[in-house]
Amino acid sequence: MTDSATAEIIEAEEASVAHNYHPLPVVVSRGDGSWVTDVEGRRYLDLLSAYSALNFGHRHPALVAAATEQLGRLTLTSRAFHNDKLGAFASALAELSGKDMVLPMNTGAEAVETGIKVARAWAYRVKGVEADAANIIVAAGNFHGRTTTIVGFSDDPQARDGFGPYAGGFRTVPYGDADALAAAIDENTAAVLIEPIQGEAGVVIPPEGYLRAVREACTANNVLFIADEIQSGLGRVGTTFACEREGVVPDLYLLGKALGGGIVPLSAVVGDRDVLGVIHPGEHGSTFGGNPLAAAIGLTVVEMLASGEFQTRATALGEHLRGRLDALVGSGVTRVRVAGLWAGVDIDPAVGTGREIAEKLLGRGVLVKDTHGQTIRLAPPLVIRATEIDWAIEQLTIVLGD
Ligand code: PLP
Repeated sequence: MTDSATAEIIEAEEASVAHNYHPLPVVVSRGDGSWVTDVEGRRYLDLLSAYSALNFGHRHPALVAAATEQLGRLTLTSRAFHNDKLGAFASALAELSGKDMVLPMNTGAEAVETGIKVARAWAYRVKGVEADAANIIVAAGNFHGRTTTIVGFSDDPQARDGFGPYAGGFRTVPYGDADALAAAIDENTAAVLIEPIQGEAGVVIPPEGYLRAVREACTANNVLFIADEIQSGLGRVGTTFACEREGVVPDLYLLGKALGGGIVPLSAVVGDRDVLGVIHPGEHGSTFGGNPLAAAIGLTVVEMLASGEFQTRATALGEHLRGRLDALVGSGVTRVRVAGLWAGVDIDPAVGTGREIAEKLLGRGVLVKDTHGQTIRLAPPLVIRATEIDWAIEQLTIVLGD
């Protein structure tokens, strides 16, 4: 294939696909581990990993084997019937999370919506909040998905503006300020919903002690702590959950992305019986949630994480990445934030925007994504090698010096 093949495919796609994204001009047709190949036969190192949905890389053999085996037997039952995979997946995920139960869904936004419904039901049925009076505290700079309820409590104008009217019942406080959060709690507060590290915001890491203080404020006031670990969880930061960085256990984990092994959408809300048990048959669900294909893949993901191998890799490779990125500060980079194998790199406006750097890196065989103008986010697959990170940083160094 030639470059004109790329142009033709993009043109055809743009003619019939709604323009809700602005993809980089590359047409990927194959993925292997940390690498993808485009329709022209060019290879690229994937440092985005589908926003951490590909934590185990493209087509990890154990995940493909689990999917293939399940494809040969049963793919979908709906929850109208039991299937022979959901229970094993749920009990393994609950054990990995140190919780009792799992409520399976598909996308991250659905897990967030589910967490909101569970928190409200818990507030009315257990805490004793008056009907329709519950509030949920969220953080400025959040990204929890794209549903109308969720964008209503976003402060990103691009995500929010023009989609009202918005659902009520949310209060926004500054991220990282535990005193402001505690002050916003009242007797009607059902939950605090935060990302332990804000991914879309540019890998924003809260000050040390913040997550512990949030946990304490929630416990002291009989409020649920909901941790949206959809992007930060499942090995990315060197621990199974980012909350572990401060030794904190939330009441509900919201999980997604990597849970589906980069093969299918699979999300979950994980919590104890006294919270998740408030939902009764008929009150919540999804046609595809808990399907046997996703459950078979999710079970394998959980087994892979239970070995600890990927968390260890993320820690070691993350330290390596941090060293390489720190050396760029002052040379086209103004600031870096690193947690495990996850980094937000703020580009000096003098050398270009995040998008311009991403486009130049594309030309040198490295895939990254910009966020909020000046930041590029690096989330390599956890199977990447240190030498591949070195090569990618060399390309970034060249691009910054262009
Ligand atoms: N929550 C967080 C922290 C996310 O980063 C995302 C997606 O980027 C979501 C929720 C939404 O997930 P999905 O795109 O699967 O709906």
